[in-house]
Amino acid sequence: MKHVLFSAALSLAAAFSAAAQAQPQLRVIAFGAHPDDCDLKFGGTAAKLARAGAAVKFVSVTTGDAGHQEMGGGALARRRYAETQESARRLGIGAYEVLNNHDGELLPTLEVRRQVIRAIREWKADIVISPRPNDYHPDHRYTGVLVQDAAYMVVVPNIVPEAPALRRNPVFLYYDDNFQKPAPFRPDVVVAIDDVWDVKVNALDAQVSQMYEWLPWVDGDLDKVPKDPAERKQWLSRLRTGRISPAIRAALEKRYGAEPAAKVQHAEAFELCEYGRRPSLEELDKMFPK
Ligand SMILES: [Zn+2]
Repeated sequence: MKHVLFSAALSLAAAFSAAAQAQPQLRVIAFGAHPDDCDLKFGGTAAKLARAGAAVKFVSVTTGDAGHQEMGGGALARRRYAETQESARRLGIGAYEVLNNHDGELLPTLEVRRQVIRAIREWKADIVISPRPNDYHPDHRYTGVLVQDAAYMVVVPNIVPEAPALRRNPVFLYYDDNFQKPAPFRPDVVVAIDDVWDVKVNALDAQVSQMYEWLPWVDGDLDKVPKDPAERKQWLSRLRTGRISPAIRAALEKRYGAEPAAKVQHAEAFELCEYGRRPSLEELDKMFPK
């Protein structure tokens, strides 16, 4: 009897994997200006997408070699690269690439645009995510511009001809932010991430140079960071638990229903960019795990 149960379980598993293969794998690439930006804005959703079988890649457009009060240059770039690889491992995503451009000096040049086009094509992305082109940090702004400038160009074969062009423009999305000008962020799709909040915090915990050194130093809070590794991770979790905006709360209610949405503590939201493929909101909703 035991044997029969076992073979039944095996054929069920085979049926599941056949069903998984029948659906083409969703391929997602996320761009950040710095080697912790994607983790902060998209880490929870990325972990959920990866669990659901999607291929997820993060790209930092700069090396992050200006992001510290004591270190800099190559030594900091190498340290931060190692942090990205550990963060990717903890999130369970497929890849984390760091492009060789200086932190704090990013410009929307043709050279960097070509790097972005190449990265999107090589990942064969269905979805591309970036910051909006209005932001307090020039590197964030220009990352938004660079990714916007790659939208559509990724399907033009004579642009970056050595990397085969995509046959279909991907869906381009923006991370959420609080900037009001020229227009406030609009949550077209929202993902509750309470079920992976510990995974996200654990990934951020790998970004030691940022979460526990540089960012607290900028805020004048370096003395508030606990020394004990377990305590500082709890501190990080509290620090990163933000208020959910009314617009995102309303989007949560629409997606999950009023009662479940009221209980959500952590969420990530995304706005559809007009320059990529524009799926209906229903199709967009289906692309993201609940
Ligand atoms: Zn940044």
